[in-house]
Amino acid sequence: MNSKGILTVISGFSGSGKGTVVKQLCERYNYALSVSATTRDPRKGEIDGVHYFFKTVEEFENMIANDEFLEHAGYVNNMYGTPKRYVLDKLNAGENVILEIEMQGGLQIKEKYPDAVLIFMAPPSACTLKKRLVDRNTEEQDVINKRLARAAEEIDYIDKYDYLVINDELETCINDIQRIVTSEKNKVNNQPAMVDFIKKDFKNII
Ligand code: 5GP
Repeated sequence: MNSKGILTVISGFSGSGKGTVVKQLCERYNYALSVSATTRDPRKGEIDGVHYFFKTVEEFENMIANDEFLEHAGYVNNMYGTPKRYVLDKLNAGENVILEIEMQGGLQIKEKYPDAVLIFMAPPSACTLKKRLVDRNTEEQDVINKRLARAAEEIDYIDKYDYLVINDELETCINDIQRIVTSEKNKVNNQPAMVDFIKKDFKNII
């Protein structure tokens, strides 16, 4: 008896550790992870079609024109977007889907799909974030600064998210998110087929 899958959006400042958390969630539980399209250049070790679909600006704009995105947004000199087809197919098949996207995109999703669960992941402090970004060593200093400036801007939108999870200790953070999604899945209005079945079944109890 398939109920619809839960659409979970995980956002967090660049360097908040959301990549690690999302990877662990997908490895341990049966989430379908949406692969985004981006105009950003691949980082060392990133594979096209696995980490991102790497697109030229022209290709990306064509995808927008063809209405291929569930949402898309600009982020520090590049564009990022969630391809629509994959996500809708998985949700309709009853699978839980995770989107790891920034906040503008998260808010677009909430507007289109009010049942989506928006989780914001933050590091324990601004100082930790700065250290993680520098230690990660994947960006030049000016890009790091732009990403930190973006983090400062995004803080104002936290109130629009449904949940705030602090990523201090990895296991706690993963468990917190998994509990949130399980609770959402158990909501009565997310299980119409089961509710229907139980109602009919219990009508004949005597
Ligand atoms: P990065 O360049 O570090 O891989 O990603 C930069 C930011 O873009 C991160 O906050 C990441 O979550 C976000 N992002 C990745 N894919 C998408 C997407 O499809 N849509 C939106 N709106 N943001 C995305």
